[in-house]
Amino acid sequence: MKVLKFGGTSVANAQNIKLVLDIVINKAKKDKLVVVVSAFSKVTDLLQLAAAKAASNDESFKEILAEIEKKHLDALKELIPVSEQSSLLSHIKRIINHLETLLDGCFLLGELSPRTSDTILSFGEILSSYIIAEALKQNLKNSDYKDSRELIKTNNQFGKATVNFEITNQLIADYFASNDAQVVIMPGFIASSLDGINTTLGRGGSDYTAAIIAGALNASDLEIWTDVNGMFTANPKIVKQARPIATISYQEAMELSHFGAKVLYPPTIQPVLRKNIPIHIKNTFEPEAEGTLISSKITSNSHPVKGISHIDNITLITLEGSGMIGVSGSSKRLFEVLSHENINVIFITQASSEHSICIGILNADAEVAENAINKAFEIEIAQSKIDPCIVEKNLCIIALVGQNMKNHQGLSGKMFSTLGKNNVNIRAIAQGASERNISVVINERDVKKALNTLHERFFEDNIKQLNLFVMGVGNVGEKFIDQINKQKKFLKENLKINLRVVALSNSRKMHFDEDGIALKDWQSILENGETANKETFISNVKKLNLRNSIFVDITANESVSKTYEQYLKQNIAVVTCNKIACSSAYDNYKNLKNLSRQYNAPFLFETNVGAGLPIIDTVKNLIASGDKVNKIQAVLSGSLNFIFNNFDENNSFHDVVKEAGVQGFTEPDPKIDLSGIDVARKILILIRESGYKMEIDEIDNESFMPLECLETTSNEAFFESLDKHASHFVALLKKALLKDCRLKYVAQFENGKASVGLQFIPKDHPFYNLEGKDNIVLFFTDRYVDQPLLIKGAGAGAAVTASGIFADVIRIGNV
Ligand code: ADP
Ligand code: ASP
Ligand code: MG
Repeated sequence: MKVLKFGGTSVANAQNIKLVLDIVINKAKKDKLVVVVSAFSKVTDLLQLAAAKAASNDESFKEILAEIEKKHLDALKELIPVSEQSSLLSHIKRIINHLETLLDGCFLLGELSPRTSDTILSFGEILSSYIIAEALKQNLKNSDYKDSRELIKTNNQFGKATVNFEITNQLIADYFASNDAQVVIMPGFIASSLDGINTTLGRGGSDYTAAIIAGALNASDLEIWTDVNGMFTANPKIVKQARPIATISYQEAMELSHFGAKVLYPPTIQPVLRKNIPIHIKNTFEPEAEGTLISSKITSNSHPVKGISHIDNITLITLEGSGMIGVSGSSKRLFEVLSHENINVIFITQASSEHSICIGILNADAEVAENAINKAFEIEIAQSKIDPCIVEKNLCIIALVGQNMKNHQGLSGKMFSTLGKNNVNIRAIAQGASERNISVVINERDVKKALNTLHERFFEDNIKQLNLFVMGVGNVGEKFIDQINKQKKFLKENLKINLRVVALSNSRKMHFDEDGIALKDWQSILENGETANKETFISNVKKLNLRNSIFVDITANESVSKTYEQYLKQNIAVVTCNKIACSSAYDNYKNLKNLSRQYNAPFLFETNVGAGLPIIDTVKNLIASGDKVNKIQAVLSGSLNFIFNNFDENNSFHDVVKEAGVQGFTEPDPKIDLSGIDVARKILILIRESGYKMEIDEIDNESFMPLECLETTSNEAFFESLDKHASHFVALLKKALLKDCRLKYVAQFENGKASVGLQFIPKDHPFYNLEGKDNIVLFFTDRYVDQPLLIKGAGAGAAVTASGIFADVIRIGNV
């Protein structure tokens, strides 16, 4: 004998019921079956809503009733041949009329007692089981129907009645002893009290009905057929990467279901565990999938963490005060109060000082619990020995579950550090002495991030998902996205990094996709996006609250640079090639560095100096290892180097600058390069990263440009002025040639002073042969005294800048 249970989605409509019938008919060839069915999907919720509306004199309960009626009539019409429908349709109508009478009663009386509520809720299973039993009879003559209320007897604790196993087991055994049907269909969830009043076994209780029957009949198997491929490592609706657990012990499954894995109603395990009956969780919509086997076997060499589950809508109540110390019985009184109010305590922690005790209950119980506790301790509160209880709502419990966790050290440490890195604040912790479960209480808004990041840490072979929010998709941004697209596979396989672009924005449009934007088509996706707005962008990033979030600024925009603070404060890393923030007022630069440290959110800007060259990272390493930078000499402008390397008798200054722009070597506004501001910003950033405090106006900037050129207000006017002053540039060139020198735009720092400007570089100087758009930096330090540490290479260009941004992102991934 096998017991099969089909849940709400499995029997949601005629189409799904046909799948159920296929499974049942197939299995009935080999075994006798009891088939327990739930109400059609959502019907119990609709009944609850209709009853609540009726009791509050809201006539719209009638519309809900009509919806319920239609669902069932539709299913019946599709499952039963027309010639046989009429008597069955009238039966359904009679049931609906009965339900209507009860709802009318609630409406007239304006009340809904728990007893009436149970009777109303029982209609979901009464209707579904009737229709399914009739449909099965069409295909399998030797099938029968039995109303569970006649076999499962409970006390009359309405809403979640307690089963009287002695009587129930006997009734079930007697009934099946004299029944030879190959398949018996029964409604789940519903039962009756000893005096025959309708009761229910608690929401989700059809699983329990099936387990009670399996236990009473010593069934060979209990199969729970649902809408997912088994019990997953985490709720698959929230954690996309969750996967089915092949085998799990009763205790582990019980722990997971108690802590929110809704796929199995927690009490279900008890009746079958005693008889050692295995439970299979299977998917009605993918019957060939293996599913999960729950049994007494503990797989000792398996992964120590079996699954992660969570319970929403939690309230923490803390009772504390000096009056609790050493006074035995405070906790006893606390729990007695809660038990008296029928409040289920889900979570308990007590500091060893006994100074405070903290419990977790459902939000719905919070008010009653608070009043009852404050009343019970009213004398101590009046005497200031105990404080009125502290109530914190809208929290969530997350639990790691696994029987083998006790044999592994450091799991809780790993759990806490993983949450900490993602700025998930842990409000309370509990670990049972069995070490089968480590639970933490966190804020409800962090639940998705917490579940995903923990799942990644414990189940995904250490794959780390990085979520990028990219602003700016010009030359560099475009290359950056291209590079991500090309490297995605390599990063996953070799560095275990899953890089996703979740948001893209240019100055006009923006687009968010929580599942990662398909980078192949990013241009058209962005074009069809919503209107860009920096504030909405930030609030979307915050709202998504994804793990390992990184804001990537690929603009040269000052207002964007002013938003970094908001990201860092949310524990969102910032990677930027935009130099404005780090070269702004020193206090602002310092503040961002401090926020990065305080919120554990990396702030990386390698591409601020020398594009993709590892200059800033090198300075950081020098300083971290105790070296001291005494002098810096550098050519830091790829664009100016390109310009002065190509400017000769045959190519005018104007044309060379224009060409530099076309090739993407200059800033969008070329004046920023030619005025020396860009170089000044770069040397300033190097100086600051070397540990010195300096402001931009302390840098001596002797411009080689005629003032009139620098005062132009548009690119067009600027280029015109370059033509106008062509002779000025030719004179500079001639002077250099005369001295047998080359023109280089040099940045220097020595003895606490910095300068930038055009210099005549003689043949024997390391800068003389600097090619194309290359950059070069010489660091003279305590350790590099005579021979400086030298970094040289392409210092401008979209591809190298993009790869520098990429490197910063990977640095974050490797932490
Ligand atoms: P049924 O109506 O078949 O009883 P339920 O809705 O009660 O189905 O339970 C199945 C649902 O449980 C899944 O669709 C899934 O959303 C949810 N769920 C939560 N946690 C887990 C988990 N760890 N494994 C599988 N499903 C889970
Ligand atoms: N129909 C009931 C509910 O929705 C029981 C069940 O589906 O298990 O709670
Ligand atoms: Mg269920």
